[in-house]
Amino acid sequence: MSTISSYSQKVVIAGAGPVGLALACTLKSQNKYSDITVYDKRPDPYLEFDANKHRTHGLRISRDAISFFNKILKKEIKHNPNINVSGAKDLQKQFSGWKGRFVRTHQIQSALSEKAKKLGVKVLYNCGISAQDLESLKNHDLESLNQVQKDLKEAQVIIGCDGSHSPVRDTLLKEKLSDVKMMQHLLELKFNTHVNVRQRSSKTASIHNAECEEVDFESIGQAGEDGLKPGTLHLVIDEATFNALRPKKTSIKTGDSETESIKKGDSAHPWNLAELKLAAQTDRRIEKVYKTLMHYVASLHKRRGDCINERISTLPLEIYRAENVCNVVNGKVVAICGDASSGLIYERGFNKGIKEAGLCALAVSDFFKSQADLTQKLSTLPQSFKRYNQQSKDLFVSERRWITFKITLIKIYKTFLYYIGTPYAMFRRNILNKLRTKLFKILPPAC
Ligand SMILES: Cc1cc2nc3c(=O)[nH]c(=O)nc-3n(C[C@H](O)[C@H](O)[C@H](O)COP(=O)(O)OP(=O)(O)OC[C@H]3O[C@@H](n4cnc5c(N)ncnc54)[C@H](O)[C@@H]3O)c2cc1C
Repeated sequence: MSTISSYSQKVVIAGAGPVGLALACTLKSQNKYSDITVYDKRPDPYLEFDANKHRTHGLRISRDAISFFNKILKKEIKHNPNINVSGAKDLQKQFSGWKGRFVRTHQIQSALSEKAKKLGVKVLYNCGISAQDLESLKNHDLESLNQVQKDLKEAQVIIGCDGSHSPVRDTLLKEKLSDVKMMQHLLELKFNTHVNVRQRSSKTASIHNAECEEVDFESIGQAGEDGLKPGTLHLVIDEATFNALRPKKTSIKTGDSETESIKKGDSAHPWNLAELKLAAQTDRRIEKVYKTLMHYVASLHKRRGDCINERISTLPLEIYRAENVCNVVNGKVVAICGDASSGLIYERGFNKGIKEAGLCALAVSDFFKSQADLTQKLSTLPQSFKRYNQQSKDLFVSERRWITFKITLIKIYKTFLYYIGTPYAMFRRNILNKLRTKLFKILPPAC
């Protein structure tokens, strides 16, 4: 049986990631009479937390992104007659609470999922939208369609917030990726640590960097359900070290004598410290990385922290964007947002995604306001989406500029470490400390 929606403003969002949910909440609070359904292939992060299925990595949420997002909501509260004021204010409050903080992805998702449901958004988990479902838009036989396909068919707007491998982008928009560029290589150490450990100070970080002649970034998140805090250390590495840590095939011993060949060094096949120690015996580059990590673990111990369940992997930091982020397909608007539209690095992915979600929600609201008959099939892209297309492009360009600037700063810092920081750290350690011990020996104990 086909269930035809009584709503005229119907939106289907593919993906209940942080951006998809932020968009759904914004859209529903801006258009209280709209019908919004979000589909996600993963289970509900609120009801059934599973560390293997959910993303536990933390996201640093920048102040500029939250201010940008809240400004859009504030303007809508003032001027949009269809707004759900209390819902929009509640959303503003939630986002303001994350300003400048480091929050686990699944915590953002569960909080937003709850908010979305309260606002009246249908969030359906364990329910992916396949390429076949998307292709079915061309199918005219309503009886042969499943519920997802019917929802897609009835929607005026379909938005893909389905991540970097977006099926909506590939199947419906058929957009190729442009501006693809490898920016840098990172090593990532993920671990859990004791609940009392705080983020290290910038002074401790610079001493650590000087001693190791490396640039690293530490993030310690909020304690999770397991009572531990998630920690991440990112280490900037060169391409040769990246390749050494990501051998195509590695033999590992399983059981008594069996050996098995697997890829190593990506997030699905991480190293642990013991494996890295073994590999360090035969590779100079891995040895340097291992020493740096052990130095960091020692600094954690000094803060009464530990490094539990460590996973060490490599990350190629590539950026990309889709040439166009919206179009008319089969008479309806199809748009993409978040990682589906463009991928960024250095803690800008989600931050760009929140800004984009605000802009996309505005485009949809303006479209609903300007379109007299929503049952009509569209032939050209509405003005508000043309604007969204340009805004998304501009956002990518400004974020890329910021990332390039950040990378230049890292290079300058690394050169500083090489010529000044590390030699000074060695001098302090070897000469000043020896002098100090000698002085203490000479001076009487009262001094
Ligand atoms: C280790 C790491 C650290 C990061 N740190 C930061 C940081 O500090 N700050 C920052 O701003 N960014 C950071 N990022 C980037 C950030 O995680 C992403 O930019 C952000 O998650 C993008 O959100 P999204 O909702 O667009 O996509 P995703 O988070 O990828 O969500 C996509 C959702 O779509 C669902 N989905 C996919 N296909 C389908 C389908 N066919 N049908 C239905 N559902 C589907 C998936 O299940 C998923 O829930 C980090 C990324 C990583 C990997």
